[in-house]
Amino acid sequence: MNPSESFAPRREEPVFGRLAIIGIGLIGSSIAHAARELNLAGRIVLHDREPGVRARARELDLGHEVAETASEAVRDADHIILCVPVGACGTVAAEIAGALKPGAILSDVGSVKGSVVEAVRPHLPEGVHFVPAHPVAGTENSGPEAGFPSLFLNRWCILTPPEDADEAAVTRTRQFWEAMGAIVEIMTAPHHDLVLGITSHLPHLIAYTIVGTAEDLAQVTQSEVIKFSAGGFRDFTRIAASDPTMWRDVFLHNKDAVLEMLGRFSEDLSLLTRAIRYGDGETLHKHFTRTRAIRRGIIALGQEKPETEKLRKS
Ligand code: NAP
Repeated sequence: MNPSESFAPRREEPVFGRLAIIGIGLIGSSIAHAARELNLAGRIVLHDREPGVRARARELDLGHEVAETASEAVRDADHIILCVPVGACGTVAAEIAGALKPGAILSDVGSVKGSVVEAVRPHLPEGVHFVPAHPVAGTENSGPEAGFPSLFLNRWCILTPPEDADEAAVTRTRQFWEAMGAIVEIMTAPHHDLVLGITSHLPHLIAYTIVGTAEDLAQVTQSEVIKFSAGGFRDFTRIAASDPTMWRDVFLHNKDAVLEMLGRFSEDLSLLTRAIRYGDGETLHKHFTRTRAIRRGIIALGQEKPETEKLRKS
């Protein structure tokens, strides 16, 4: 790519006049990079509660301004995005409520939607629109250095506006994410939490478990675990390196859906355990054939590249 070219078309007119980003981690800094590179906001103001993070964001020249307080950052903002852990969204909403201007669109990027809606809604001032969002994109890195502008390119972004949401506010939020290259889908918050419970939260829980189990194994030395990690384990270690605070909050705040998925998973695992114990190859083969088709479906949808293609490119 020519260095002067962007990963997505640069807008002639920004989507928002003033954009405020609260929480300057992987997601907040990625939005700041993309919004600046693609001219999505006339002015981008950021805030993080950590003085060290604010200083680093200034050094990295993220946005146009780094505000000392969240209220200062959101004053006069047309679009405000909470990029803090799920458990902090309610506290931040309470803190900024008095500074939000009528007509502003408040959003977030939390990986859980039901609990965020519940925590934020009571603090919403009259005339402020709330359009929750979840970009289904990420890496195992966190902090202000981790962000990059193309993080959301060709990734889903799920909006979960309440039934009575202002249509114009939903449309502008959609335009903002689409301008960053995301593919926007709208669903209810409870449905989102169920879908993500199985596609993201449960896989993370399994990864955290299996990596912990391998570390506890006395008969397999740590160096062997690392040496032979290509045998499937490496992908688990990448997922299990995800931010501990973020994932603690995801499990605490999507408890019902995760417990439901975990129950189903345990039942299926028992069936496979039984098949292995009794040498029931047919059950194993049937199951693996079904799951292989799911993998092929994901590749066909363009959400992932086959391993062979990845290897050729690297
Ligand atoms: P991150 O890199 O850890 O950054 C979060 C930042 O928010 C940290 O600097 C944190 O500071 C700050 N923060 C916490 N509480 C705050 C408060 N009350 N006021 C101001 N700043 C505060 O996290 P992230 O990966 O960007 O995740 C942010 C959100 O995006 C989460 O809700 C997560 O569920 C969602 N999300 C993440 C991913 C992913 O893969 N990472 C993907 C999609 C959505 P401290 O370090 O001091 O706590």
